Amino acid sequence: MQLPLRQPSEFTRIKPPAIQQLIAPGGVSRRRIDGIIEPLPPAYPHHGPRGGYQNPWPEAQPRGFKDFLRWQLVERRAGTVAQSPPLDSLPTREPVIISPRAERGYRSVTWIGHSTVLLQLGALNVLTDPIWSERASPLRTLGPRRLMAPGVAFDRLPSIDLVLLSHNHYDHLDATTVQRIAARFPNATWLCPMDLGKPLRKLGVSQPVERDWWQSVDGGGVSATCTPAQHFSGRGLRDRNRTLWCGWTIAADDVRVYFAGDTALHPEFGAIAARLGPFDLIMLPIGAYEPRWFMRSVHMNPEDAIEAYRALASRTTISRCLALHWGTFRLTDEAIEEPPIRFAQRWREAGLPESANWILAHGETRPF
Ligand SMILES: [Zn+2]
Repeated sequence: MQLPLRQPSEFTRIKPPAIQQLIAPGGVSRRRIDGIIEPLPPAYPHHGPRGGYQNPWPEAQPRGFKDFLRWQLVERRAGTVAQSPPLDSLPTREPVIISPRAERGYRSVTWIGHSTVLLQLGALNVLTDPIWSERASPLRTLGPRRLMAPGVAFDRLPSIDLVLLSHNHYDHLDATTVQRIAARFPNATWLCPMDLGKPLRKLGVSQPVERDWWQSVDGGGVSATCTPAQHFSGRGLRDRNRTLWCGWTIAADDVRVYFAGDTALHPEFGAIAARLGPFDLIMLPIGAYEPRWFMRSVHMNPEDAIEAYRALASRTTISRCLALHWGTFRLTDEAIEEPPIRFAQRWREAGLPESANWILAHGETRPF
C-alpha cells in the first residue's frame, strides 16, 4: 500500500541517541544527548543529586515502604477494599481497526485496557504502555490479575510503527509483551523516558529512543515530546527512581494527542498544553486512587483528573478526554467500576461538554 503520509522507514531510521555523562559545575551529573541541540534547563530539578530522578514539586514525594506496609497489612485487614466484579463482566465492544494501516485523515483511538491504547493517526499506528499479559507482575502466579481480557487480541494488531512508554512499573512495562511486540514488529520505534533504553534492549527492542522531560523526537511528519509527570519508578527493591517517568505528546496527520502516562496532579499541565497543544485528544489516568493518603502523590483521582483536563483543554478546538488506568487490574482499594462514574459526575458538575467525555468500553474504537 502506498503511504500518503510518510514512509515508515523514515521514522524508524532515527538514530538512537548516544548518551554521554557530563559532570556539571557543582558535581551534579548531567546528560547530553548527541544530535539534540536543545539547551538543558539551567537546573534540572527532577534529576536527583546522586543520580536517579525525583518529582520537583512541593508535596510530591511518594510514600515510603513503611507506609506501604501500613496500607497493605493494617488498613486492608480492616476491610476497606471494595469487592472486584466477576472476571470479564464489564462491557466490551468489537474494535474497528484498519489493517495494516489507515489512510491520511483517518484518526481513531481504541482502548485495549488499563493504559494501553491503539492510536491510528493517518498511516501511523501507535501503542501506549502495552500490556497483554495475564498479570501486571514479575511473577506468573502472584500479583494483580487481569479482570478484563485485552480489548484487542494481540494477533489482530495492525502494523505497529511507534510504541510510547511512560515508566517501568509492571502494569505499564510488561516484559513478555515487550518481547512479543519487538519480535512481531522489529521496525517499530520505541520512545521511553531516560534510562529505560537498556532494559528494553535486553528485551529485544533494537533501537529504543530515550528522552528527558521536554525533549522531542521528530521524523517523517511525526513529532513526539516527552512531558513531565508526577510519579516514581522501580521494578525491584533496589531500583527505586533509577529510571525516569513521563507522559508523551504526539503530533501526526494534523492532530495532536496527549498521553499523560501514570501521574498525580502536578503544576505542569498548563505548560504542556501551552507548549505542545492544542490537543485534539487528551488521555488521562482516572483510577487507582484509594486510599488517598497513600495514593495522592502518585495517582490522580477523578477530581484531580478534571482539574488536569481543565488546565490541558483547548479554548479554540474540542479536546476530547479519554479516561484510562481503570477497569483492568485491581491495584488499589476503590471499586473497579467507580472511577468512570465519579469522573462523569464531576465532569457534568463542572459544566464540561458531554460529548468530549470519552469513557470507552474495553475494545471500543472512537474516531476523531
Ligand atoms: Zn506506575
